[in-house]
Amino acid sequence: MLRLSRDEISALLAGFVSRLSAALHAEPFVADAGRAIGADLVGSGIATPELLGATTTLIGKYLLSKPHLDELLGAFVAGYTGALVDQTVAAQEALRRAELADRRRDAAGGLLRNHLTRLPNRRALLQRLGAVLDERVPPARLGLCLINLDRFRTVNDSLGYRSGDQVLLTVAHRLERLAGRGGHFPAHLGIDTFVLLLEDTTGPDEVTKAAEQALAAIAQTFPINNGYTLPIGASIGVVERATTGADPAALLGAAEQALAWAKRESRGHWTVFDPDRAAAENARHALSAQLPDALTRDEFVVHFQPLADLATGRSIGAEALVRWQHPQLGLVMPGRFIDLAEHTGLIVPLGELVLRRACAEAAGWPGDLLVSVNVADAQLRRPGLPAMIRAILDETGLPAARLQLEVTENVLLDPAELGTLDEIARMGVRIALDDFGTGNCRLAEISNLPVHNLKIAACFIDFLRAGPAAAGPDRTVLTAMINLGHDLGLTVTAEGIETAVQREQLLAVGCDTGQGYHLGRPAERFPNERC
Ligand code: C2E
Ligand code: MG
Ligand code: MG
Repeated sequence: MLRLSRDEISALLAGFVSRLSAALHAEPFVADAGRAIGADLVGSGIATPELLGATTTLIGKYLLSKPHLDELLGAFVAGYTGALVDQTVAAQEALRRAELADRRRDAAGGLLRNHLTRLPNRRALLQRLGAVLDERVPPARLGLCLINLDRFRTVNDSLGYRSGDQVLLTVAHRLERLAGRGGHFPAHLGIDTFVLLLEDTTGPDEVTKAAEQALAAIAQTFPINNGYTLPIGASIGVVERATTGADPAALLGAAEQALAWAKRESRGHWTVFDPDRAAAENARHALSAQLPDALTRDEFVVHFQPLADLATGRSIGAEALVRWQHPQLGLVMPGRFIDLAEHTGLIVPLGELVLRRACAEAAGWPGDLLVSVNVADAQLRRPGLPAMIRAILDETGLPAARLQLEVTENVLLDPAELGTLDEIARMGVRIALDDFGTGNCRLAEISNLPVHNLKIAACFIDFLRAGPAAAGPDRTVLTAMINLGHDLGLTVTAEGIETAVQREQLLAVGCDTGQGYHLGRPAERFPNERC
């Protein structure tokens, strides 16, 4: 409403009165003119109910004797009140619209906040990251701490959602305070995942320091219902990098990968994103994804490495070692894919393929040469391995006594695997304990194993490169291992023999057989002219 001076208001009123007077004297008389004047009075912005009262009294006083007066005043009041109602309705509509717009703005704000903690959510963080990356110029840097509470599900499951919410609110509060002190941007991405965004960082140390502070803040105990307190920990993935070339989603992805490393290593600490490690891991994932197709495309080949009698140097057989003839990467060694195959369960069909190929090859070898095939734990855990071996032996015509299976010390941990191994051994197949000394084998239990051969891992014979001078604890351990095997009636094989000196020394301590580059490298064909 306009603010008018006293004189201006008097002038306006005088105008209305003179208009009314003119309407009253008009020939012919038109009552509706009063209505228009009443509406204009409201439009002038000076109308109030008191003013209306004063105006009508005034008019009544001065124009009392005039004919049509009642009619004119009636129209005037009707015009006045009609206009006032319209104005009020319009004002209320404007108010309603403003309120609606407010609510919409609020809702849009809500879309950018976590509904529980009211911290900025993932969308808000991505927006902020986008803005920071757009604004900053080289050599600006930024950092992220992606924080995930350890075992939060247990809180929810065992204490209920209300306690869970209480924990989240407390974490949010502590992180918000920390962010406030450090000038960081906090966010709550999902159930138990939070972020601190650090802008204009100077290097990773600044971000890991913030991560330390966040861990310390979270690690304080949590008061929950009934005076109970909870110990809560967290793991943090840290990324710190130049803003150039960065993109919000990729930054978060990198932080997620670092967080996964932190969780895997041991909870309750931070890990910094390492692009080289990520590249290697991603390549492994890509390789893992290609494994099933590689199997159907028949890209796996089996090579054979001689197992030799140490005294004579003659081959007693060969170990079958799988390789992946990859269309782009060339010959890929098992170290790069066996554990992937174990994780995905593909080791079962792959192991069967190797076993079948190895037995088929060995059936064509002269004399009683052995073929030694690696068997993964997952294969031993599947029922049906003995039947499968029986079928392969029948199919290839290889006598059971010429097949040896190499198992790891892990079989000792699982009675079911031990049972399977017993069944296979009863078929006349030899069993070797591979990489002996590197696993969790409790020596006392070896005597319960249906084993025929101990394969001593290469790390135990490394010291022998130095020749007879190499003594000390290493020699004591090696001798004890060989004696243990012999005392249990087993043959002992040393792995990874690379030099003539090692071979001589092994002979000297009583080792029976060996395997290694010095005696023959893995090759497509076996036996070759050297065997
Ligand atoms: P492993 O069974 O202990 O096999 C011996 C490994 O040592 C082979 O590596 C062999 O090439 C390597 N080696 C042999 N002599 C020497 C030497 O003098 N010096 C050095 N540095 N290394 C030597 P490879 O072929 O890369 O195989 C690695 C592992 O992959 C094997 O260790 C075995 O655990 C696994 N593996 C290979 N083939 C199969 C398979 O068909 N099934 C399963 N489950 N595992 C397999
Ligand atoms: Mg082996
Ligand atoms: Mg081995």
